[in-house]
Amino acid sequence: MNASLIVAAAIAIQDTILKHEADLESLDRAIGDGDHYINMKRGAGAIVDMQQELSTLSADAALNKIGMKLLSTIGGASGPLLASFFMGMAKVLKEKGDASIDTYAQAFATGVDTIRQRGKADIGEKTMLDVLIPVAAKFTAMATQNASSEEIRAALITTAQQGMLATKDLIATKGRAAGLGERAIGHIDPGAKSCQLMIEAVCKIA
Ligand code: ADP
Ligand code: MG
Repeated sequence: MNASLIVAAAIAIQDTILKHEADLESLDRAIGDGDHYINMKRGAGAIVDMQQELSTLSADAALNKIGMKLLSTIGGASGPLLASFFMGMAKVLKEKGDASIDTYAQAFATGVDTIRQRGKADIGEKTMLDVLIPVAAKFTAMATQNASSEEIRAALITTAQQGMLATKDLIATKGRAAGLGERAIGHIDPGAKSCQLMIEAVCKIA
């Protein structure tokens, strides 16, 4: 992973967030406070605006910068959570210092684990982790099985989709929707939806 791939990923993420405005707005209006789209749009825009600076950095330094920027630009619960993902990922890349698929899988899994610790949440609580935890597990498993990049990308897109859809039938036990009880059933979690969109967009980068 180099800085130009990170910039390409940021652009792809911004693109998919902007394309899914209606979806993200209505999901957070149904079971949250309606700001998730705005939060994600602001965060993605701030990162794309940094592309010049990011392109001069090593991958770990770029990811760390992204984390710090998200911390200061995205409000709400999702800002610090997503920030901690990038910082966790950066830490592994810096320590490992190689560009193997195993290292990327480990970095992704550590990023997800950092969110889990910061948010004190786990799978099944109707959050972004219902997408991120299964995707991290799938990525780690496939990386150790020497799967091809194409196979891994396709599998991660499918896993993210399944995790996102699974949040529909759950009661929320973390985040704003936790106060809704059974009324949250029937709605996909907005953070799960945005994470699924971002994973799909990044996996589809040529
Ligand atoms: P806020 O909830 O402060 O309005 P956003 O609307 O931007 O912030 O983000 C809401 C999303 O954040 C939720 O849909 C959920 O996926 C995620 N989320 C909230 N709390 C947690 C938590 N403790 N752990 C993991 N994800 C969480
Ligand atoms: Mg919200």
